This record gives sequence, structure tokens and C-alpha cells, in this order.
Amino acid sequence: MRSQHPSAAAYDRWIAPRPSLVIMQPTTLCNLDCSYCYLPERMRRREMNVEMAAAVASSIADQPVDDVVEVCWHGGEPLATDRDHMIGLWKQFEALRHAGRVVHSLQTNATLINDSWCKLITAYDVKVGISLDGPMHLNRERVDRAGRQSFDRAMAGIERLRAHGIDFSMIAVVDPSRAAAAEVLDFATELGASAVGINMEEREGINLDRPLPTTTTAREFWADAIAWSLEHPDTEVRELERIASYLRLIRMGDRDWWESHRFDPLPTVTFNGDVVLLSPELAGIKDGNYGDFIAGNVRHQSIGEILASANRLRYVAEFLDGLNRCSATCGFFDFCRGAQAGNRYFENGRFDTTETNYCRVSRQELVKALVETTPN
Ligand code: SF4
Repeated sequence: MRSQHPSAAAYDRWIAPRPSLVIMQPTTLCNLDCSYCYLPERMRRREMNVEMAAAVASSIADQPVDDVVEVCWHGGEPLATDRDHMIGLWKQFEALRHAGRVVHSLQTNATLINDSWCKLITAYDVKVGISLDGPMHLNRERVDRAGRQSFDRAMAGIERLRAHGIDFSMIAVVDPSRAAAAEVLDFATELGASAVGINMEEREGINLDRPLPTTTTAREFWADAIAWSLEHPDTEVRELERIASYLRLIRMGDRDWWESHRFDPLPTVTFNGDVVLLSPELAGIKDGNYGDFIAGNVRHQSIGEILASANRLRYVAEFLDGLNRCSATCGFFDFCRGAQAGNRYFENGRFDTTETNYCRVSRQELVKALVETTPN
């Protein structure tokens, strides 16, 4: 039962009651030092112990049996942890995985993938997402701590995945003033990625100083991506698939389903069991107004218990106000549904604002590009 508070009704309106995605931080360490990275502790090795994973598994076991929860191993770089350590964490979910209630995924820079990891990924049926920004010249931000390019190491890791027949998707961080959509998407397709996600470069975490994409270059990028996609219907581009789903539902008169779709509370469980909600980028951030964004710790409470009082957290309540404002004022809300909490905070310093550069370049310009390319 949600705690009674002015924001309780707004929480129930906008946020799903249970997570379908839980993000786990097996280690804070990353072996790379990408210039746009938002992770504050990526140089330190602090590892999640098995007790935390067991507590999360127990929380998921409390959910209704027909919920399927994706447990996404993020990081740091998740494969920077020891293989045996990861086995210990994954074992905690085995009963749920075999019952079809948990699927594992991991988001990796691919540089540490070897045959040994591939065998483990296959054994635990883990969905793999690769972080790579396109061909070599678009990856010059992805360097190690000695400043060396990581591209060749990533390609070697991907080659191992292919040798083991492991399917993978790719997420590219894109600066649309430098990267043409066709170049990124051609590269992903030739690599063998089953789906591609495009993240326009964002201001978040400790990555606060870099120039942001402009609306002009973003619209050109999306127009290019739409044209490419029409010629390559077999490759799924996550952002285009989202808008296509929206349009399909509207055309079928199923607007209610889209509108009833609520935000995942998106619990991110850090190495020490702390839980941060709404945006993984808030983990490890401290702020004079909001404190540390921690909603609870899985050692002391289940995720369900943490979510039951989440509406009382200042940043959550503010985000709900922001969604209400977006809903009342923005012509893109129908499709957008309010974008991400973290972008509001890192760009505007608050959660109850509306527009961000992120939503302009990732949502609004996508819609405008589609309108421009659609014949009357
Ligand atoms: S486009 Fe921006 S302002 Fe409009 S609904 Fe989305 S987040 Fe809110």
C-alpha cells in the first residue's frame, strides 16, 4: 500500500507499481575512460557481494509469478569483474531464470569479452548489448586510461561473440554534428548487431562540460536514419521502432494502451545494495538539495517496500510534477511521455521542469524529421 502523501496519486498515475527492469552494478570499475562517461566511480574497484544479489532475487520472487523481470548487469564495465564473482551473483537468480521469471542482460564495452565469458553468457542465456559508437573514427572518445583507442579490442571481443553464435545489440552515443546516421547504421548492420539504439550525447552524471547536440544537426540525423531504415527494414533502430509502435497503436485506435503505459521505476542497485530510482545516472551523485538520491537498501528492505514509499522522495515527487507539466503544456507529450528524469536534473538542476536539450534532440526532432519525410 502506497504511503498517503500529496504525491501518492500522481505516483500511481505515472509510475508502474513494479519494475520490469532492475539495473545491477556488479562492480564500479571500468577498464576504459571514455570522455563522455557519466560514472563518478569508474576508476575504483568496489564489488557487489552475493548477499545483495540474493536480496534482489528475493524481491523479484515477491512479484507476481507472471512478471518477467530483466536484470541488467551494467557497471562500471560489468566484465571488469572476476568471472567467478559474476557466477556467484548470477547463481542467485537461477531458480527465477529457470522459471522464466528473470532474464539477464549486460551492457558492455566488449573489450574484455573472451571465450570464457562467451561460454558463461551462453550458459546463463544473457542478452548482450555492446556500447560502440560506429566505425573507428567515431570511437575516438572511447579510450582507456592511458588514452589508447579501444576500438580494436572491442572488435576482437565482438568477433568472439560471433564465433560463439551469440546475438547482440549495439548502443551508439552519437554527436550528430560528426556522425551521419547511415554511417553508424551501416556499420552496426555489417557488424551483425540485431538492433541498434541511438543515444544522442547527453549532459549527465559527471559529464557536464561537453557541447550538446543542436536541434538542426539532430533533425538531419533523424531524417537520415528514417531514410536508411526504409531501405533496411530488417534492422531494428530502437528509436524508430518506438515511434512506429506509437503510430501503429494510434492508427489501430489503441491510444489507451499507449497512454496507460507507465514509467518503469527503474531501480538501480549499486555495488553496496543502495537503490536509486528513475535514472541510473543518479547513482553515486550527491547534491545539496536532494542528498544522495538513495531510496533504500536491499539489505534492509525489499524493492517492493522501497517503491511503496518512493513517492515521498523529493526528486521523485518533483519528477511527477514535471510529468504533469509536460502533459499539460507540451505538444509532443503524447509520443514522448516525458523523457528521462536524469536529463532534467543534469541540465536544469531540478526534476519538475519540462524541456531539456535531450528531449528536444531525441524526441522532438525525431517527430519533426518524421513529419518532414512523410508525404502529404
Ligand atoms: S518533449 Fe520534452 S517537454 Fe515535451 S513531453 Fe517530452 S520531456 Fe516533456
